[in-house]
Amino acid sequence: MMLGLLLARAGVDVAVLEKHGDFLRDFRGDTVHPSTLQLMHELGLLESFLQRPHDKAHDIRAVIGGTESVIADFSRLRTRCRFIAMVPQWEFLDFLRDEAALYPGFQLSMETEAVGLIERAGRITGVRARTTTGEVLIQADLVIGADGRKSAVREAAGLQVRDLGAPIDVLWMRIIKLRTDPSGSGGRIGTGRFMAMIDRGTYWQCAYVIHKGGSEAIRERGLDAFRADIVALVPLFADRIKAQVASWDDVKLLSVSVDRLTRWWRPGLLCIGDAAHAMSPIGGVGINLAIQDAVAAANVLAEPLADARVSAERLTPLLAKVQRRRMLPTRLTQAVQVAAQSRLINPLLDSTQPPQVPWVLKLLDRWPALRALPAYAVGVGARPEHVRSPELTRPAMPH
Ligand SMILES: Cc1cc2nc3c(=O)[nH]c(=O)nc-3n(C[C@H](O)[C@H](O)[C@H](O)COP(=O)(O)OP(=O)(O)OC[C@H]3O[C@@H](n4cnc5c(N)ncnc54)[C@H](O)[C@@H]3O)c2cc1C
Repeated sequence: MMLGLLLARAGVDVAVLEKHGDFLRDFRGDTVHPSTLQLMHELGLLESFLQRPHDKAHDIRAVIGGTESVIADFSRLRTRCRFIAMVPQWEFLDFLRDEAALYPGFQLSMETEAVGLIERAGRITGVRARTTTGEVLIQADLVIGADGRKSAVREAAGLQVRDLGAPIDVLWMRIIKLRTDPSGSGGRIGTGRFMAMIDRGTYWQCAYVIHKGGSEAIRERGLDAFRADIVALVPLFADRIKAQVASWDDVKLLSVSVDRLTRWWRPGLLCIGDAAHAMSPIGGVGINLAIQDAVAAANVLAEPLADARVSAERLTPLLAKVQRRRMLPTRLTQAVQVAAQSRLINPLLDSTQPPQVPWVLKLLDRWPALRALPAYAVGVGARPEHVRSPELTRPAMPH
């Protein structure tokens, strides 16, 4: 959606396909990072975006065995917004859609699922898509695969995937938030257990981390034992867990994967976001990376695509350029996620001892200025992008 907005803004005709009828799904993050807010500012959209309902997370906290520590402090960043805006992703996507729709070249087709690629002489020239009224063929100078970690586009293109391994899965559930609850998102770490809690105003979106493939064993122990595990981590939930987790239907298993394509492109096709590099939820940075990819792609591709005379041969090396630009932040971020999975989370899930506050958090407690470093890693990340693609067409209606 972000790349659709940027390209339409630069005068390119864009068709965005979305297989669902809306964006109302829970299984995404809610985090709009300082770097994304910076981009919204560069696009002149920050003020109107911040008028939409959101919460501000100025820091990230973890409760480890009952002791609370601040891990990252965004107020120490030098970005325009020194917080993470907690916005359900459907709100964020609706906002981008509304802004993109102001440009005449933008077209969004809901309930339209890419199911295959059209190929001519080794070059991708469009997609086959399934709609409610049948299959359609859409021809394009360039197809962007931004269809997430189970990308049908990357599979149809036969691009090679390197699996980096994710030893964890997530059990995802909602627990009602009472007026008397404290506010703010964060993590809870107890003996052999770890849960992230996203504050969504009226409820807590909980991500209970388990060993990969461990959900069957948890179910076999029974719902009461599972509820007791949650309450041991968050005693606050003792009064509501039974009503909120009434059956296993209230608990969704989300499979985590970390992988990346060795080559993100073929002539006529480019993958970005999770389609190019599926991210673990660790650090909550996948949305940020996907948006940074979109901005980098627009910076390189918008002007050539807006030129009706552009040749396929001219576009191909530019696709490689986008990958070269985004490979470093992808590699670095995934390396940190994989290390956190195997060195921190896995040992934690195996542990039978109460967790100790790690030395690094003690260091951050002692020198709070150091909290700017994890804040930068999460809130901005390596090689932040800036909007360089032009605005060639005026919006059809004023903002
Ligand atoms: C449990 C969990 C929690 C997470 N929490 C966070 C977090 O808090 N913060 C964060 O930054 N990241 C988080 N992540 C990672 C984040 O969700 C992803 O990295 C990010 O959503 C990637 O964005 P994307 O646009 O590439 O793909 P997606 O967000 O997956 O979007 C892909 C879109 O394409 C559509 N689509 C799929 N296939 C097709 C098709 N064939 N045709 C048409 N449309 C299609 C989908 O419906 C979807 O709308 C989390 C991941 C998991 C698994």
